Amino acid sequence: MKEIAEAILAGAGSEEIGALPIPDFYRAAYVKRDEIDMFEGVESRDKDPRLSLHVGEVETPELAPDEVYLAVMASSINFNTVWSSIFEPIPTFAFLDRLGRESVWGARHVRDHHVVGSDASGVVVRVGSAVRNWKPGDRVTVHCNYVDDQDPFGHDDSMMSGNQRIWGFESNFGGLADLAVVKANQLMPKAAHLTWEEAAVNTLCASTSYRMLVGQNAARMKQGDIVLIWGATGGLGSYASQLVLNGGGIPVGVVSSPDKVDLLHSLGVEFVIDRRAADYRFWADEHTQDEGEWRRFGRDIRALTGADPDIVFEHPGRQTMGASVFVAARGGTIVTCAATSGYMIEYDNRHLWMKLKKLIASHFANYNEAWQMNRLLELGAIQPTLSQTYELSEVGEAAHQVHRNLHEGKLGILCLAPGEGTGISDPARREMIGEDRITLFHRHAESVRAARESGT
Ligand code: NAP
Repeated sequence: MKEIAEAILAGAGSEEIGALPIPDFYRAAYVKRDEIDMFEGVESRDKDPRLSLHVGEVETPELAPDEVYLAVMASSINFNTVWSSIFEPIPTFAFLDRLGRESVWGARHVRDHHVVGSDASGVVVRVGSAVRNWKPGDRVTVHCNYVDDQDPFGHDDSMMSGNQRIWGFESNFGGLADLAVVKANQLMPKAAHLTWEEAAVNTLCASTSYRMLVGQNAARMKQGDIVLIWGATGGLGSYASQLVLNGGGIPVGVVSSPDKVDLLHSLGVEFVIDRRAADYRFWADEHTQDEGEWRRFGRDIRALTGADPDIVFEHPGRQTMGASVFVAARGGTIVTCAATSGYMIEYDNRHLWMKLKKLIASHFANYNEAWQMNRLLELGAIQPTLSQTYELSEVGEAAHQVHRNLHEGKLGILCLAPGEGTGISDPARREMIGEDRITLFHRHAESVRAARESGT
């Protein structure tokens, strides 16, 4: 990969890059099939990705006709890599084995290691014989919707495809590596004003939030909608907050520290609730929810905005869903894509049906939704929320930070990029959009770290 990286950094053209040999082995982050029981008996919270995520050489798979080899310059940590690394809710090898039974090309994915990672920025180095729109040398980002374009059910909305998967989670050869195998219909142009790591962190979370709020398939936010956003500085929430502001909505961000309150104010979110300071106890005990606490939360939202949320952006799951359904306005929408705190959900159905609320499920995004989201990044209407960057060798530590909710926004991972700050090919555009806006999350994280270190 060294030769490929050097050629990219030297600005080699398409023909030169396309002629470089593809190595038989490459460096990657992976979990191992023979370790899926390593955390048996350990509490979820104490399962440590630093023990289960390995970085080492793996064999390069053959390239299918509709795929490209991508030299990965940078990638990011998503919560799905945390799930893979703690083997919950099931070991991801089950997904690979199922994919392996589907086709000859699918069989390549069945290995004793799973190369994880569902985001990437990089350079195309080789294209399969059926690839038409991309060529070696193209600078791209990758979205993680992995679909078979011969499935008839995927042609209205590819998320409805029967064998839709998330790349690098339900498929092998993902983005936390120096090389990745990517379907051509996962590629999108890299925003020229961003560094490799800034370009790498957005797609999974931003596109998921786009579909939940903006696209035609979920909550379809309109101007003036009040949107309650759980985890408003986290991976999903940091893009949701921006999308609501950009679309003329009124975000109400929920976070868990004064630092995060400050960050949201800097982003332009006026209404913020610190859930830790408010100490909501939606569950009186493991089996009983406390409606009085839902009401207190609802009153706090009304005190800020004067009204109930038209949309609730849900992903914490069991801990919050009862409250989310309760506080949504009459006729409002609760849109959910996850259940970090538990997927056996409980809410009072009377509050849903009597007030004609809607509970909508959403999952990642189709190619068009991801492309529209990428365009907003290219335009500089939405900014990356990269807060910190790690080397690929530190992937376990980065996943640990996300697992323990110690991060803000997104964590980037350098793969072939030689250091932070490289990859910008349109500095004039960057200047026009504004360094301060692009690097808000990074600067905020640095100042929080500095304050902690100096004890202030
Ligand atoms: P993240 O970066 O960890 O952010 C989640 C935020 O949620 C945290 O920052 C935290 O914010 C808040 N939170 C965590 N536990 C909470 C609880 N019990 N109650 C209230 N708030 C809580 O993760 P993410 O990338 O946003 O992903 C969130 C979830 O969505 C994960 O389960 C992930 O797997 C899933 N996801 C699904 C899709 C999809 O396509 N279906 C896509 C992306 C992510 P505060 O502590 O500041 O409140």
